[in-house]
Amino acid sequence: MNNTKYSKIVFFTGAGMSAESGVPTYRGSGGIWHKYNWEEFACQKAFDRNPTNVLEFHEVRRKSVLDCQPHNGHKFISELQKSHDDVTIVTQNIDGMHQRAGTDNVVELHGSLWHLRCDKCSIIIEDIGESFSKMKCDCGKYLRPDIVWFGDMLNSQIIQQASEIIQECDLFISIGTSGVVWPAAGFPQEAKSNGAYCIEINTEQTELSYLFDEVIIGKASEIKKHLSFRT
Ligand code: NAD
Repeated sequence: MNNTKYSKIVFFTGAGMSAESGVPTYRGSGGIWHKYNWEEFACQKAFDRNPTNVLEFHEVRRKSVLDCQPHNGHKFISELQKSHDDVTIVTQNIDGMHQRAGTDNVVELHGSLWHLRCDKCSIIIEDIGESFSKMKCDCGKYLRPDIVWFGDMLNSQIIQQASEIIQECDLFISIGTSGVVWPAAGFPQEAKSNGAYCIEINTEQTELSYLFDEVIIGKASEIKKHLSFRT
């Protein structure tokens, strides 16, 4: 959409973006950590103790995400990207739902359920499907899901990349994030300080709502209705 007045658009998405697809949010009811103990399944210690147990748990997560489909909000972003020169998605989600809607240029702050990595060989393998195509690297070490688990450091290069993109954008749209998980929670302030027009779309007010030029109480699936006059 080159008739837009904005030249660089960033969508900053969180778990609420995928909620209407059926992927539970972190804090809401139905959240995965109400049911499973993360200390057994989602930290490096658990992986070191019992890698197959952790990998099998992630296969269950993969299946539950594959059972969900991108919704109209994901599709709207994908369509916008086709007609606008510069649209980037910075997401805290690991579910790959933006890419399944046909979106590219997605910066995944917390990694991806569809990537495995070998820390010994420093490689990342794309692996899409319910089951992992292999659980071990050619070097013999178990591959671990390339996602940020509890207690992990975020990838500083990815944070830096996201931060640079956000500093340059002139329209920043936050969708479905509670804004309490750092360092991502600092991104709206970064966009604002660098002069971007900032919009928040969420089903409720958040701790960061005060920062935004516009706060839209609404659903992620209805982004088109919320934004059609602005983008
Ligand atoms: P969060 O669970 O803390 O907050 C979700 C936010 O989305 C809330 O503010 C809620 O009001 C809002 N919301 C819920 N339904 C919505 C809808 N239909 N439309 C618009 N807004 C809606 O999520 P977070 O801020 O992303 O932080 C949670 C952390 O958990 C992140 O680090 C993320 O990586 C991880 N996580 C990811 C997924 C996923 O990949 N889909 C799911 C759960 C958690």
